[in-house]
Amino acid sequence: MQMQTPDAGLSVYAALEQRSRGRRHAEPPPQNRGEYQRDRDRIIHSNAFRRLAYKTQVFVNHEGDLYRTRVTHSIEVAQVARSIARALALNETLAEAIALAHDLGHTPFGHAGQDALNECMRPFGGFEHNLQSLRIVDELEERYAEFDGLNLTYETREGILKHCSLTNARLLGDVGERFIRREQPGLEAQLANLADEIAYNNHDVDDGIRAGLITLDDLRDVPLVSRHVAEVDTRYPGLNPRRRVHETIRRMINELASDVIAETAAALRTAAPADIDTVRRQPASLVRMSEGMRADHLHLKRFLRDRVYRHHRVIRMTSKAQRVIKALFEAFMSDERLLPVEYCNSVQNAAAEAGETGKARVVADYIAGMTDRYAILEHQRLFDPTERI
Ligand code: MG
Repeated sequence: MQMQTPDAGLSVYAALEQRSRGRRHAEPPPQNRGEYQRDRDRIIHSNAFRRLAYKTQVFVNHEGDLYRTRVTHSIEVAQVARSIARALALNETLAEAIALAHDLGHTPFGHAGQDALNECMRPFGGFEHNLQSLRIVDELEERYAEFDGLNLTYETREGILKHCSLTNARLLGDVGERFIRREQPGLEAQLANLADEIAYNNHDVDDGIRAGLITLDDLRDVPLVSRHVAEVDTRYPGLNPRRRVHETIRRMINELASDVIAETAAALRTAAPADIDTVRRQPASLVRMSEGMRADHLHLKRFLRDRVYRHHRVIRMTSKAQRVIKALFEAFMSDERLLPVEYCNSVQNAAAEAGETGKARVVADYIAGMTDRYAILEHQRLFDPTERI
C-alpha cells in the first residue's frame, strides 16, 4: 500500500513538509509518519508534557479534580486549532504539535507563578514562559543520545515562540529573526495562538462557574455569552444548570471557530499568498476574527479579568503561590547545596561560565519545571522544621 504523503490535500500556503526549514541537528526522515507527526509525538512523550497534568491553569491543582490543568487546556487548544486547520486545509498536525507544546514552559501556579519567577529573575534577564517552552524543546529535555532537547522542526519552534523582546530575539538565532524583521509566523502558528485564547476564555467561564465565583446570570451583559444563554433558554426551558452551562459554552466555541474560519478564508482570498514564506512576509496575521467578534471576545476577557482572575479567592491563592516561588528562589540562590545533586552540579558549572546570571537561570529552570504539588512539598521540606528532608 502506498503511504499518503504528509502534504497531500493541503493549501499552497499551509506549512508543507517539503518546504520545511528542517531541524537543527540533521536526522534521517521518519518512517511511516511525517516530520510534524514526529514533532507531536516527541512532545507527548516529553517529561515536560507529563508535568502539565499537575500544573495549574487558574485554580490550584488540589482545589478540585474537574478544573482545567495545563494538560487539559493544551488538549483543548489542540482540538480547537485542529478543527479550524482542517476546515482551511492547513497543516492540522503542525497546528496540533504547536498547541500541545505552547505551555510546556509554564511555572507551577499559573500566571501567578510566572509573575513571581519573572520578578525574581529580573536582575538576571527575566523569566518568560513562552521562551521557557522553547528552551525546554531546544535544550532542557534529556532524552536523545545525539542531541539535547527534542530537536523539533523550525516550524514547530517558530510556533512555540509567540512573542519575544528584541534583546531576546537577537540571542535566539533562527526563530528570533522574524521579530527583528517584523515578520509573521506560518498560518498554523497564528492559528494555535488564537485557539489558545478561544480555549481559555471559554473554559475559564466554565471553571469560574464551577468554582462558584460567577454564575451564567452574571454574564448577562457579555454579548458573546448572553445571546447563547438566551437561545438555550428558549430551546430548553428549565434545563438543569450544568447542561445549561455546557450548551452555552459549546455554542460560544462554535461561533468563535466559525467566525475565525470565515474571516481567515476571506483574508487568504484577498492576500492570496503563494506559499508559507509569502505568509511570513505579510504585514499582519492572516488568521483572525471579525471586528465584531474581536470586540465581543475582548468584552468577555475583561469580565474574566475583573470577576474571576481578580476574585478575592483567586487573589488569596495567587499571593500564597507567589510567596512559595519567591521563597524557593531565594533559598536556592543563597545556597545551591539545597538543590538536588544534579542541579547543584549544573549551578556550579553555570556559575563558572556566567556567574550569578548563570546560576539564577539553572535555579529558574528547576523551579519552572516543578508541578504545583511538588513546589508546595519542596517549600514544606525547606521551611517546615518538622517536615522530613
Ligand atoms: Mg495557553
